[in-house]
Amino acid sequence: MRFDIMTIFPEMCENYIGESVIGRAVASGKFEVKCHNIRDYTADKHKRTDDSPYGGGMGMVMTAQPIDDCFKAVIGECGRRPHLIYMSPQGKTLTQKRAVELSKLDNIAILCGHYEGIDQRVIDELVDEEISIGDYVLTGGELPALVLVDSVARMLDGVLSSAECYEDESHFSGLLEYPQYTRPPEWHLMAVPDILLSGDHKKIAEWRRMMSIKNTLEKRPEMLKNADLTQKEKDWVRDNI
Ligand code: SAM
Repeated sequence: MRFDIMTIFPEMCENYIGESVIGRAVASGKFEVKCHNIRDYTADKHKRTDDSPYGGGMGMVMTAQPIDDCFKAVIGECGRRPHLIYMSPQGKTLTQKRAVELSKLDNIAILCGHYEGIDQRVIDELVDEEISIGDYVLTGGELPALVLVDSVARMLDGVLSSAECYEDESHFSGLLEYPQYTRPPEWHLMAVPDILLSGDHKKIAEWRRMMSIKNTLEKRPEMLKNADLTQKEKDWVRDNI
């Protein structure tokens, strides 16, 4: 899979992409990320990529021409038109489900806005989908783009050691994950639950499942409406609400 991030601050993205789990996966060729500087494509003699908004008002708006030419270059490099996502607080909120769906694509291009955002005509003509990372506004689309790349890429083959690593985690199955513990067995007078030291994998799996449901009930009860629960589990939830 290949991601193409279009931004006026490519270094912000490159630094993150080069580190940790994602950095190792890119270095070993599990997927590709290319960052493109929109400024390299501006026809403006002063290298500007933004202008004041028609109708007046605060801030600047990113102009259409450099974005359009940058995306044409991305299409040329990919040899096909990637699915183009504009990171925007006006988009649908990113979910694990959408990240799983996007992980099936071969090419994703991501457009990062800045300032007041981008000229609406770019959205109307080029953008396939607007995605938000939450109901708040950031100064630019770079952090949201990285959130999107990270959430999608960790489900690609070979990025994590096995699919179990993400399938067990919060949100994948519609529940939050169970609590995790590591050494030492006792810390600040708090002991690790005995069951986790028992070596009985069937009992551990049952405990984890119940703790997952309990965690979800306590922290995000609304998620249980759509969770895949057995009748016994549904009864337990009903009795513990
Ligand atoms: N004027 C825009 C509005 O009110 O909808 C907000 C522009 S914001 C200051 C600048 C850029 O940051 C946006 O173009 C977008 O790319 C990015 N951005 C900000 N908040 C975001 C969010 N919650 N999710 C995704 N992208 C976001």
